[in-house]
Amino acid sequence: MKDLNAVREAIRRIALLNAISHEGKAQSKPVLGKLLSERPDLRGVARELTSLVDEVVREVNNMPLEKQIELVKALWPEALAERKEKRKEKAEGKTLPPLPNVEKYDRVVTRFAPNPDCVLHLGSARAIILSYEYAKMYNGLFILRFEDTDPRLKKSSLEFMDLIREDLEWLGCPPDKEYIQSDRIEIYYKYAEKLLEEGYAYICTCPPDEFRNRVRAGEPCPCRTLPSEENLRRWESMLSGVYAEGEAVMRIKTDLKHPNPAIRDWPAFRIIDTKKHPHPRVGSKYRVWPLYNFACGVDDHLMGVTHIIRGKEHLTNQERQKYLYRYLGWEYPEAIHYGRLKIEGALLSKSKIVRGVKEGLYAGWDDPRLATFLALRRRGIRPEAIRRLILDIGPRSADITISWDNLYAYNRKIIDPIADRYFFLWNPVKLIVRNVKKDFIVRIPLHPDHPERGHRTFHIKPANNIVYLLISGDDAKQLKPQIILRLMELFNIRIEGVSGDSVLAEFHSEPYIEAKKIGAQLIHWLPENEGLPCDVIMPDNSTISGLVEKSLKAASPDKIVQFERFGFVRVESVDKKIVTLFTHK
Ligand SMILES: [Zn+2]
Repeated sequence: MKDLNAVREAIRRIALLNAISHEGKAQSKPVLGKLLSERPDLRGVARELTSLVDEVVREVNNMPLEKQIELVKALWPEALAERKEKRKEKAEGKTLPPLPNVEKYDRVVTRFAPNPDCVLHLGSARAIILSYEYAKMYNGLFILRFEDTDPRLKKSSLEFMDLIREDLEWLGCPPDKEYIQSDRIEIYYKYAEKLLEEGYAYICTCPPDEFRNRVRAGEPCPCRTLPSEENLRRWESMLSGVYAEGEAVMRIKTDLKHPNPAIRDWPAFRIIDTKKHPHPRVGSKYRVWPLYNFACGVDDHLMGVTHIIRGKEHLTNQERQKYLYRYLGWEYPEAIHYGRLKIEGALLSKSKIVRGVKEGLYAGWDDPRLATFLALRRRGIRPEAIRRLILDIGPRSADITISWDNLYAYNRKIIDPIADRYFFLWNPVKLIVRNVKKDFIVRIPLHPDHPERGHRTFHIKPANNIVYLLISGDDAKQLKPQIILRLMELFNIRIEGVSGDSVLAEFHSEPYIEAKKIGAQLIHWLPENEGLPCDVIMPDNSTISGLVEKSLKAASPDKIVQFERFGFVRVESVDKKIVTLFTHK
């Protein structure tokens, strides 16, 4: 392993967090599990990692609980802050409205069932978080089911499966159990044959247009009345390849006069030429594929799902699936349909996201312009913010529109107390201050409310009564001769002259009160040689470049900090240049 130190550090962090939530005693198995979900690249060497994990867990367990908490507080304050929030929420009794008919079932089982044809985005947050939280609320089971039965148009990929698993871990909603529909094709076939045998389904070979016209008129097509032997023979022909793609479908018999024509005799199986469109997991092993309502309906029953929590756009699907349940003698689960959740300005179309990334319009799944979980995570949006937003909205059935600012408000509450402050100068400009007659040592706390986290210290030593500083270009633009302003935590100056790339000023006074009296503006600054190049990637993927305090170099990647008078950012990489992403104001 080339990054053994980083791996060891990650194990230590996970073990410490695990320990403090279990009275000081971490356990190796969940620690390893969490590590592998954070670092799927290590899955291949999981066995070799066991002894390292055991070793680190032993070390951690040898520390007293207070020491463990102290370490977590110092190194990963975010993690602690989130735990606190969760506890507070519990204490405040903030809970979801109860699920219906829970007493009917031995235990509550919920599921999240994505098609792995894209990474997840904010649009899935509600289904995931509500299903997960309800399962936990009733000590039930939360299932992840990959619905990968369309190898042609909504083609899944193994990469997306892994990314979705990671998304769920990150959101704090790990599934208790996972199923993949392409493993279950034979199960669907079994029920298809049963339905054909019993006359509840038929194989339709009519041209689609012809079928549509008949069904719209509420009339059966000639296939509908065929004896079941003939239907089973046709089914065999579908399986064996007598029919080509599009030449035959299996349909479920419904009410041909159903007020919604889309429900009438809905299609349950179709042929896909998997020689041409091989499935990423099972290749061309199958050519007859279940459609959404069939596979989903059968699975919800077989997997013991008791409560389906989903958007109300699925109401028609429920109508369709209820025919299936009736024919098979099953009872339909409880279904909770929530309203549409629109997020203003967020691109939530999977096909547009996939196309955009493929065509290079977006740099990747975590391009900051996207509302994918990967992008939100990269920008410094904490999963806890998403969770709280969704829990506050709950499962209500009315449609609701939220804005990015709503999400930011939740996130700000979480990161404001943990984000250390730094000075960042965008488009920096030189500031020359004359008449400075003594040295200044400036100590500014990393966080005004948390002096225990330490300080940044600047030594200002004038040479011939002159100091050379830097300020933001945007601030410089506003300056005019005679303006008095305060350099934050340092002293007050009077502007003498402004030229393109430098500002000349004179020392005015030291106490803050002087500045306050005349309502002088406060601006931030850096000593001339103190700045480290820093890029901030903005939500529109543009970059703002500038200089940041050297001390930020000690920050670990993934840390969220606040650039004063600029906004929160997440540190992405620390090298010769520091690269950050803008979170929000
Ligand atoms: Zn037909």
